[in-house]
Amino acid sequence: MAKMKITFLGTGTSHGVPSLDCMIRGNSACPKGVCREVAQDKKHRRTRSSIFVEYSSKKVLIDVGPDFREQALREKITRIDAVLLTHSHADHLAGIPDIRSYTPPTEAPLQFFGSSETASAVRRMFSYVFDPSTFVGGGIPRIELETVERPFKLFGETVTPVPVLHGSLSGCFGWRIGNMGYIPDVKAFDDNAMSKLAGLSCLIIDCLRESKPHSSHIILPEAVEIARELKPKRCLFTHLSHDIHYKRDAVHLDDWMDFAWDSLEVDVE
Ligand SMILES: [Zn+2]
Ligand SMILES: [Zn+2]
Repeated sequence: MAKMKITFLGTGTSHGVPSLDCMIRGNSACPKGVCREVAQDKKHRRTRSSIFVEYSSKKVLIDVGPDFREQALREKITRIDAVLLTHSHADHLAGIPDIRSYTPPTEAPLQFFGSSETASAVRRMFSYVFDPSTFVGGGIPRIELETVERPFKLFGETVTPVPVLHGSLSGCFGWRIGNMGYIPDVKAFDDNAMSKLAGLSCLIIDCLRESKPHSSHIILPEAVEIARELKPKRCLFTHLSHDIHYKRDAVHLDDWMDFAWDSLEVDVE
């Protein structure tokens, strides 16, 4: 397998951390004071979840959230060769208009890969991109949407869509690239999904909050249990709300697990 470098562009849940709710209602609404602590420790600042994967001199973006522009400026992303989408929630797609800077007319359109449900949602949400007659003036990202169901080769590496349950939404994927698995939004895995995630070097998985169950996300004890079952060499938790304190909640983790943070870089082989 090719050497792979992962950069966490964002590690936050759909609200981001600090959350607007805590700012509006006062930080007493913040369960652990994490939103308040952002000012002292920027590892608490979590933009919406996305990763940037580099291997074989190619650059693959997973999800294009509403913070994409700031993330790309922060990490100095100058090129994108392909985009994988996990699902159609706005916190994973809302940055798509900013992709236009990466799709010059001199190059082929940028390929996006996702489930048929996600592709339909992208066409609906960004209809101006696919029917330019509806849009007068301004720039349009040049995108080619590819619907996938099975593993395929992307720049020499096997990329596997891993269908998972995420509340009542259909067509939600995690992705496996080589020995790295990325599942930011999940409530349940069936046996088929678990088998696709066997033998990973690095698992990156949803961990919304500490102890209160959620209808469409796994929480800390569930995430730890699934990680122990899958036994990757390393596990990093993402899609974190302000109810995860990366220092104090580390007591719940095994020594090969950690909470990810924005700008964290990880090498995977
Ligand atoms: Zn999400
Ligand atoms: Zn979601």
